[in-house]
Amino acid sequence: MSDKEREQKSSNVVWHHATVTRQRREKQNSHKGAVIWITGLSGAGKSTIAHAVEERLHSMGCRTFVLDGDNVRHGLCSDLGFSDEDRSENLRRIGEVCKLFLEAGVISLTAFISPFRKDRERVRSIIPHGDFVEIYARCPLEVCEQRDVKGLYKRARAGEIKQFTGIDSPYEEPVNPELILDTHLHTLDECVDQVIEMLRMRAVLAPACPTD
Ligand code: ADP
Repeated sequence: MSDKEREQKSSNVVWHHATVTRQRREKQNSHKGAVIWITGLSGAGKSTIAHAVEERLHSMGCRTFVLDGDNVRHGLCSDLGFSDEDRSENLRRIGEVCKLFLEAGVISLTAFISPFRKDRERVRSIIPHGDFVEIYARCPLEVCEQRDVKGLYKRARAGEIKQFTGIDSPYEEPVNPELILDTHLHTLDECVDQVIEMLRMRAVLAPACPTD
């Protein structure tokens, strides 16, 4: 379904404006909402980083939520498969969920390969300017394949999984991501530090106090 058809279908729905606004929620939370979109090859470290950043933010008292393959594919997107069209729809729905979380003043973190630029750009386009933070978890294919956390590369090489990103399906690198994390060069802790530093620079989080 095209974006235009989707728009027409919902044209009779009127948005009810909440009195508890995003601004009020953010003031209560003492931080801003943001959509942290982590992209990269399978095994590059997206999930590990998303959960480690969430742990750090949670311990700082921030409102957070991680969206990853399992928690959306089991429910919200359980009707979708892995065709190009379904993958695209999967990401569109996740983007819309992130947008709602943003209104709720939450810092959401996503961990999807999201290999195609057009899908990532579509999400960026529905999120207010500056609130979408694209992080490229960059790691050479050989390293990802060596890690083979879920044994998927082995199965893809054996021809058991078709259209596997990096093997027989392309990965389009981000052109201008807000942050690049070289996960084969830095430890997980260093990567988390870089994300937190970037969130301070973007004023999602307050500047660090000397005691932090
Ligand atoms: P993805 O979600 O991108 O498929 P995972 O997070 O499931 O990747 O797996 C990444 C693997 O790489 C984990 O075993 C993790 O421990 C390891 N790893 C090594 N260094 C890093 C790093 N700097 N950041 C994230 N993961 C790392």
